[in-house]
Amino acid sequence: MTLRVGIPRGLLYYEYFPLWREFFTALGAEVVPSPPTNKQLFEQGLRHSLDETCLPVKLYMGHVAALKDQVDYLFVPRIVSVNQGDYHCPKFSGLPDMVRSIFPTLPPVLEVIADRTEHKSQLMKSIFRIGTLFRQNPVGIYGAYRQALKYWRETAGDWAHSLLPRAVPHPSRTVPTVAVIGHSYNLYDIYCNHNLLALLQRMGVGVVTPEQLAYKQVRTTAETHLPGLCWSMGKKLYGTALEYAGQEEIDGIILVSSFECGLDSLLMDTINRELLHYKKPAMLLVIDEHTGEAGVITRLEAFVDMLKRRGRP
Ligand code: SF4
Repeated sequence: MTLRVGIPRGLLYYEYFPLWREFFTALGAEVVPSPPTNKQLFEQGLRHSLDETCLPVKLYMGHVAALKDQVDYLFVPRIVSVNQGDYHCPKFSGLPDMVRSIFPTLPPVLEVIADRTEHKSQLMKSIFRIGTLFRQNPVGIYGAYRQALKYWRETAGDWAHSLLPRAVPHPSRTVPTVAVIGHSYNLYDIYCNHNLLALLQRMGVGVVTPEQLAYKQVRTTAETHLPGLCWSMGKKLYGTALEYAGQEEIDGIILVSSFECGLDSLLMDTINRELLHYKKPAMLLVIDEHTGEAGVITRLEAFVDMLKRRGRP
């Protein structure tokens, strides 16, 4: 019998899903992602979360609720650090604990521990612990891990591209181009952001996002301008904002954040101050569960009109 592994379509799903899918598929499992966010799933997430939790974590709980009775295992990684010296937001380190404490009945939770501050053997131990549930042969488990990693390295760019709405126009000299900067789960969960990127497209605007830049490059930029910043995701947003701000073909920058995000509450203000030096129009869009589509459209229209009136310098 093929075992079914559920992967909630939230948080770092938008960055690593192909890697995780390839690993479990190579182990012989069937991978079952939760459906794209919808009203029911959104409400489930709110019902299962504390008020002060950020919206992306609330949504994640909705995705867990949608999957938990449909699968043999639930994959919830514990991601502490993916680059030497950097950390992820603490919500990612405690995600499996949060999920277990919120849902009293769950299928077994598969918990890979990614922590670059620890020796690599810790990651491998968790890979083998999970792998033996599907295969007894350690060589086969290691092979599945290597295969997934290779696949991920070769296809990460395609995956990032596939997240963009199909019709988003590419940056060009004839239409204003906006860099939309935020965590991947804020930019690509089209239910929670009211399909922000497609709205911009309908307004005749070219769009670029952090995923179009190489992480190595933005990380270096962030480390040069803001040494001491220890959040990987913060480096990605900060470095991306500076890189795009310096590009002539970018006409404006939209920063997207979630209400109750501790990291963004500091970082977005820091980015905004830095952008003043570049004299590029910028806007901060904060999303929470009460954000309505009409409010998002009004703000985007005002921003786009301003860019069009301003023209290219
Ligand atoms: S970085 Fe912010 S939005 Fe993302 S999980 Fe952490 S608190 Fe939530």
